[in-house]
Amino acid sequence: MKCDLSTKNFEKSRHYLAGGVSSSLRSSMKPVPLFATSGKGSRLRDVDGNEYVDYLLAYGPLILGHCHPQLTEDLKSQMKKGYTYGLQHAGEIELAKLLVDIIPSAERVTFSGSGTEAVMLALRIAKSFTKKTKIVRFQGHYHGWSDSIFTSFPTADMNNNYSSGGKLTVPGTSGQSEKSLEDIIVLPWNNTEVLEETLYARRNEIAAVITEPVMCNSGCILPKEGYLERMRELTEELGIILIFDEVITGFRLGLGGAQGRFNIKPDLTTMGKAIAGGIPLSAVGGRKDIMALIEEGKVNHLGTLNGNPIAVAAAISTINILSAQHGAVFDRMERTALDLVEGLRNLLEKHQIKGVVNQIGPVFHLMFTNCDVVTSYDEFMTSDSKAYQTFAEKMLSEGVLIRPNGLWYISTEHSNQDVKNTLEAADRAIASLVKEYS
Ligand code: PMP
Repeated sequence: MKCDLSTKNFEKSRHYLAGGVSSSLRSSMKPVPLFATSGKGSRLRDVDGNEYVDYLLAYGPLILGHCHPQLTEDLKSQMKKGYTYGLQHAGEIELAKLLVDIIPSAERVTFSGSGTEAVMLALRIAKSFTKKTKIVRFQGHYHGWSDSIFTSFPTADMNNNYSSGGKLTVPGTSGQSEKSLEDIIVLPWNNTEVLEETLYARRNEIAAVITEPVMCNSGCILPKEGYLERMRELTEELGIILIFDEVITGFRLGLGGAQGRFNIKPDLTTMGKAIAGGIPLSAVGGRKDIMALIEEGKVNHLGTLNGNPIAVAAAISTINILSAQHGAVFDRMERTALDLVEGLRNLLEKHQIKGVVNQIGPVFHLMFTNCDVVTSYDEFMTSDSKAYQTFAEKMLSEGVLIRPNGLWYISTEHSNQDVKNTLEAADRAIASLVKEYS
């Protein structure tokens, strides 16, 4: 695979851009962080002229693929009317109504720019509402990089090694004080007993439990039967706010996100990534009485570009496209994911390599591990991230872009031909991996 120009660009970039990349995660890409030039549908091109079937999808937002014609048109037409106003505009009402209609637990919503900001706000609202300070979060979940919550996440993508595994409230980065995590209680996920014990014992301190409803950031692990239901029951009983972080699952596991799929209503929901098809927008939705704190001016929610018309137009357009044909696009994306998952499982068997593929809807995670199943963070931690990174590099040279570690995302634009090409590429990549490791 030719990557001379990406290499040159990366070198040049480092003279001006700290670290040469705009998000630390991107520096982990091997052989070099690629420089993109354009994308269309399921395909992405780089400066060296390579074309990839794209399963990175910008780490999730590109649910409609690259340059979706309708979304592009809608953006152009908004662009002509203004790209930001600093005043309210009708689009915000339209989008807020759409979200209230389709997100089961959202009676009121508010907008910001990134998933990190949405989580910050949800935590603030929960603390204000309950007048308590502690937040329960789970090992292996990710809720953005703000100081108050950035911990207990394996930094595999950054250093090819699950370095922080096992340590709990360790700051996620230099420059973050341990004090900033004083209010965080980290628990293992999918463990009802530990949850019950902790919530009963510390009910007077705990403001909120925040969870990814599916552990997408570590192994795409599904909640055990009854786990989220019990979490809902307990939090309701004990006056603790339940926050579903649906930054990944929202607009991916169906229009109503994971809460729609599992039929569980949290008190607050954070949304981001796919909501606006690749334009920065995030949202917090929640119960009317809780969100009223913003209306009453008790909780401040600020942001110069919040609800800007470009992002709002993108979200309206994305949601309308996803809603067409009663959500048939979700069935199609899931079918595509299932075809890939089945193909990958067959390849693992064919090449006698131990691995697990966990999938839900249009996302899945392939792991090389000796475990028969991956249903917990501990099992996830047994997976060989170095071997996977080598596999990802081999896939890249075969014209398939996947995360160096983590979820594969499917868009509405991935075709049967993409699946066929991908599985042929994976066959060669796994064969070569086996050779290298034997
Ligand atoms: N929550 C979850 C579940 C996420 O996966 C992410 C990002 N991967 C975030 C929050 C933070 O979102 P952002 O990167 O937009 O700040």
